[in-house]
Amino acid sequence: MASHFFFLCTLLTFSLYFHGISGAIPKYVVINEVPTHGGGIKFDKVIGGIPYTKKKMRHINKYIWYKVFKQNTPADQKPLDNVTVFIKDFVGVEAVTWGSDKINVSAVFLRDYPGPMDLKWEFTSLMHHEMTHVFQWNGEGKTPAPLVEGIADYTVLKANYFPPGFTKPGSGDRWDEGYVHTPFSPVL
Ligand SMILES: [Zn+2]
Repeated sequence: MASHFFFLCTLLTFSLYFHGISGAIPKYVVINEVPTHGGGIKFDKVIGGIPYTKKKMRHINKYIWYKVFKQNTPADQKPLDNVTVFIKDFVGVEAVTWGSDKINVSAVFLRDYPGPMDLKWEFTSLMHHEMTHVFQWNGEGKTPAPLVEGIADYTVLKANYFPPGFTKPGSGDRWDEGYVHTPFSPVL
């Protein structure tokens, strides 16, 4: 009985220690729903598929918490059990974050991406943007959408994953204009 109790305490202490130090790191789930689609094939063969994506999600998650948002304690960090990436067949946008912890990436975009960067680089850039949406607070929906997009692109810029020559500092008109104009505005 005593040893049982000791074991349980050790387990609890370890669990508290682990979560206290690193926060509650979510589980990363990646589902390629279209493995025979041109984009699904490129996801597996060119980008590195599920193993590469999971590894990058963990890396980007920590980058966003500690380097971009400076959220060093679990109390500041958005608590999520899972973050899920789906490779799906849809058109219209490259990727979209929904339901606060899910990201859809367009297989059509992956299949047809023309460059100038290589596809793995572009996918990683996209993941920086969408993962920021997963972890950013949005003032319970009251934050202006362009600002939300601007913060997401700030992560991309800071991580040096913005296509070179796309735009330059000072190119925006307003600090809340969104996308890359927000991080490049003199205010932020
Ligand atoms: Zn966005």
